[in-house]
Amino acid sequence: MNAEEFRQHGRQMVDYIANYLENIREREVVHRVTPGYLRELLPNEAPEKPEDFNEVFKDIEQHIMPGITHWHSPYFHGYFAAGNSFPSILGDMLSDAIGCIGFSWATSPACTELEVITTDWLAKMLALPEHFLHSHPGSGGGVIQSTASETVLLALLAARTRKVRNYKQKHPDVEDHDIIKKLVCYTSDQANSSVERSSLLGAVQMVILESDKEFCLRGETLKNQIEQDKQQGKIPFFLCATLGTTGSCAFDKLDELGPICEEEDMWLHIDAAYAGSAFVCPEFRHFMKGLEYAETFSINPHKWMLINFDCSIMWIRDRSHVVDAFNVDPVYLKHGDEGRVPDYRHCRLAKEFEALILKDQRFEIVADVVMGLVCFRVKAANKVTERLLDEILADGRIYLIPAFVRNVYFLRFAICAERTTSEDIQFSFRVIQECLDKVVKKHSM
Ligand code: PLP
Repeated sequence: MNAEEFRQHGRQMVDYIANYLENIREREVVHRVTPGYLRELLPNEAPEKPEDFNEVFKDIEQHIMPGITHWHSPYFHGYFAAGNSFPSILGDMLSDAIGCIGFSWATSPACTELEVITTDWLAKMLALPEHFLHSHPGSGGGVIQSTASETVLLALLAARTRKVRNYKQKHPDVEDHDIIKKLVCYTSDQANSSVERSSLLGAVQMVILESDKEFCLRGETLKNQIEQDKQQGKIPFFLCATLGTTGSCAFDKLDELGPICEEEDMWLHIDAAYAGSAFVCPEFRHFMKGLEYAETFSINPHKWMLINFDCSIMWIRDRSHVVDAFNVDPVYLKHGDEGRVPDYRHCRLAKEFEALILKDQRFEIVADVVMGLVCFRVKAANKVTERLLDEILADGRIYLIPAFVRNVYFLRFAICAERTTSEDIQFSFRVIQECLDKVVKKHSM
């Protein structure tokens, strides 16, 4: 493809993208293909001769789109929002075109400098403690990672290295592996599955602590477990607390957990992958009380800030711990010191959906609705809500996923798409009601 052809097909692609997003409501939100569907549609071998771009274009609509779940449809209410916007798509185009690898300041100074400036901007927008800013005289700052899962693993490994090093200062004769065997870290039973996976990757024991009846991790639970573990000779070193849990958007009590971490010299990592973006709004900042105890804090702009996947930001109080842990070239961070707001209609729409749910006596709300997630169920045995989800998925007009916490099966209605309107919420609710009517009829309830 030469530059002229690129211009021509680029315009075609931009038109396709604009039409796709503008008219996404008209597509079936969830695919109906079966595993292996694409193998039957594509040749067995890579084509030896180039194909006309117009033919490739046809394949997108005929073969690829049928296998896509449209995460940006206003009828997609699964998981959490996946960020997307026209400016973000344009930014990705430019970044792909420049195609530089910014692993150190020198390889492309603008990359590092932009990262330093914008992570500071974002820290200020979220009212994070000043020690998380590059422009602060300390040694903290933000860094862009790909995912929240990667971020928690990075924090855990840095915490492990710091604890081993500190322990060895007092007990120089003990081998690293003998210390690592005794290390123990904590999280709640509501934490994202990536947290437990990090402990497996980091080869350390993790204790999953029980959250309270509002699904929040409390200080007393952590304290009691630490006491028990220390009596058995274990070495507590790391806690991953969550602000906005995946299952029900609950908030661990940082103001209770933080002082315990400080007292026990434990690394506190805060995973605010989803809810963190909401701290742009002062009315949500009360959930951050205790954040000043955190060693690392992360949010995913690729969830709720209209930024395309992947973009997770990790703020570090003292980056030397992370640099030391991985022994990377410190040039990038050395230069660090030289160095649009999200669409919060999501919260109002969630409240609107909650009100609709509460008006229909057949449903109940399972967890407090504070941001863009509504957890609800049918007031009956779990299997009725399970049947309701089966009916919704078979119907296909909207998309939801379930959660199962403490023997309660419920549905998660997340407001995901930027284009979601009040009418869409009412439409989705009508679909849910119609599906429940069908369940009741089928099972003669
Ligand atoms: N943490 C929380 C609280 C989440 O809700 C999620 C995903 O929904 C994750 C972590 C994982 O995020 P990522 O896909 O960026 O690893």
